[in-house]
Amino acid sequence: MQDRPPEPVFLFRRLLTTNKDIHAIIVKLKDVPGALMQVLNVLQKYQINILGVTAFSFMKQDGYGNAFIVTDCSNSHKKIKDVVEEISKQPLVINSIKLERPVPVLVIDTYHYPIMISGELKGYIFTQPLIERIMQGGAETFGIDAMQSFLWYIGKAVGKDMAKTWLNYGLKKEEVPIGILWTGQSLGQWKGSLNQDLTSGKVEIIFHDNFECSNKKGLKQKSSFVRGVWEAIYEVILERKVTFEEVSCIALGDEQCVFRNF
Ligand SMILES: [Zn+2]
Repeated sequence: MQDRPPEPVFLFRRLLTTNKDIHAIIVKLKDVPGALMQVLNVLQKYQINILGVTAFSFMKQDGYGNAFIVTDCSNSHKKIKDVVEEISKQPLVINSIKLERPVPVLVIDTYHYPIMISGELKGYIFTQPLIERIMQGGAETFGIDAMQSFLWYIGKAVGKDMAKTWLNYGLKKEEVPIGILWTGQSLGQWKGSLNQDLTSGKVEIIFHDNFECSNKKGLKQKSSFVRGVWEAIYEVILERKVTFEEVSCIALGDEQCVFRNF
C-alpha cells in the first residue's frame, strides 16, 4: 500500500438539504478533451459553486459520458433553468438537464442506475448502519455462534470464488491476494497490508480497518467472514488447508486486526 494516509472518497449519491439554491444537474458530454471544461466555465461565469461531482467513465466507448453535478447557486443571480440551457448549448455538450427533487429536502441522483465498478462488474452500496444492524440482528436472532459460523462458511465460498476469478484474470499466484486486498480497499471494504512467503506458506495480514470487525464492536466478536474469505484465498493459492488465527481484532478494541497462520 502507498505510504500516504488514505482519504475518504465521496460518491455523492444524495444530499439532504432545505437550501433551495442547491440543484443537481446531469450533463451529457462528448468523449473529447475539454468537454467538461466547457461546463465548468459556465458555472464559474455565474459564480456557481460545485458541491460534488460523480463523474462518468468514457471506457464504454460509446462516445459520450454523463456526469451528476450538485451545484450551489446561492451566490448566483442567474436562474438555474437558464444556466442549464447555456450548458446545453456548449459545442462539446450533448445536453444538460436539472434533476427534480422527489421530496423537498432530497437532492438525489436517480439518473444513473445501476452502479458499475468496472467493465461489466456491477456494484451495490449498502450503508454502514445497515451492515451493523445485520450483524447485531444475526447475533440476536440466531445466536452469536450460529451467526459466526454462517459468516465463516459464506466467507469461505466467497474467498474461493474470488481467488479463482483473479487467477482467471491472468495474475500470478502471489499477485492474487494483492489484487484482492487492494480492490477491497478501493471498494471501501477494508484497508491493510500483507506479508506472504509462498515457499514456506507463512502469511500475515494486517487490517487497519475492515467492514466486519468495525461493525462488530458492539458484539465484541472477532471476524468470521473476513477470516473465511482469506483462508479460502490462500487455500486456492497454496493448494492446502489454511487456518488463520486473528491475534488482535478491532472488534475487541485493538488497533488493528492481524491474521496469521503461523
Ligand atoms: Zn477483527
